[in-house]
Amino acid sequence: MTITRRTFLTQHIGCACHIALMAAAMPLAARRAFAAESLGTVVAKEKFGTLEKIADGVWAHVSAPLEGDRTTVSNGGLIAGKDGVLAIEGFQTPEGAKWLAGKAKELTGKWPTHVALTHYHADHANGVAGYLAEAKPPIRATARTRDLVIERNQTPPDPARAAAVKDAIVVSPTGTTTLDLGGRTVKLIPRGGHTDSDVTVELDDPGVVFCGDLVWNRMFPNYVDTVPTKMAASIAGLKRGAGATIYVPGHGPVAKKADIERYQAMFAAVEAAARKAHAKGISAEDAGNTFEMPDSLGMWALFNPAAKTFYQRAFAAWYKELA
Ligand SMILES: [Zn+2]
Repeated sequence: MTITRRTFLTQHIGCACHIALMAAAMPLAARRAFAAESLGTVVAKEKFGTLEKIADGVWAHVSAPLEGDRTTVSNGGLIAGKDGVLAIEGFQTPEGAKWLAGKAKELTGKWPTHVALTHYHADHANGVAGYLAEAKPPIRATARTRDLVIERNQTPPDPARAAAVKDAIVVSPTGTTTLDLGGRTVKLIPRGGHTDSDVTVELDDPGVVFCGDLVWNRMFPNYVDTVPTKMAASIAGLKRGAGATIYVPGHGPVAKKADIERYQAMFAAVEAAARKAHAKGISAEDAGNTFEMPDSLGMWALFNPAAKTFYQRAFAAWYKELA
C-alpha cells in the first residue's frame, strides 16, 4: 500500500487502517520478531495473535495484525472471578469476539458474563456482537463510547452491532465503576485523550491494567482523535508506583513499568519536537516529515518514509492544542 499526501489529507484513518499501513511500512523480519514476544504463558496461538496467561484468572490477547490477519486487530483479554468472567474489547470482527468468548469457556467453564469496551474505535468495538453468539452478556461502555460506536463506526454498518451497543450498561464518565466477579473486584476507570472517552480496566491485586489505546507498546500511536496533553495525563494516571503491575496495551506486546516509561519518553519527545517546530512556524506536515525518532527510544514500529504520515498526524494533534 502506498501512502500519498493526498490520502493523508483526505481520509479519516482509524486504528485498523493505521495498523495496515504500519504493516506495509515494517520489514518482515521486524514484524516476525514483534509478533513473537510474550511476557505471560501462551495458552493459545492463532494467526491473528496469542492468548497469554498473565496472572491467575487473567489472560491478555496480544493481537498480531502486522502479520495480515485482521480478526481482532486490537489487544484485549479476560478476567475471571468465582461467579463471572469479564471480556475486554469487542475487536475488529465478531469472529474475534466469538473466539475470545470460546476461550473463556475453555479456560474457565463460562462464556463471558460481562463485556467492557475501552473506547469506540472500530478495532476495539466493531465485533462486539460476536459475544452474543451463545449468551447475552451485558456490554459496559461510557455513554459517549456507545454513541460514537453507533454514529461513527459505519464501515461497514452492522445492525447487530448497533443493537448490541444500544443496550450497553453505562459506565460512569467521572468516577470509578466496580464490577464484582466473585472474590475479585474489577475497576472500570474513565480517562480520556486517545478519544473523547477512554476507560481502563484495572485490578489491584494482582496489579493488572488493561490500558486500551492510552498505551501502545513499541508501535507508534494513532493520534487521529488524540488530545495529547489529556492523553499524557491519562498515561501518568494509570501508571502505578511500586509493585509488579502488568500493563496490557491497546496494541503491541504486554508491558511492564519500564515499557510505560519508555512510552512516556517517546510521547514527550514528540511533544518537544512539535513545540519547537510550532514555535518556528513550520507546518505540522513538514515537521512530521522531517521528524526522526531518537535511537535511544528504541523501536517504535515505523522506519520508512511511509511512516511519516503517522508523525504528521501526531504533530497535527499537538498543533491543534498549541494553536
Ligand atoms: Zn483506538
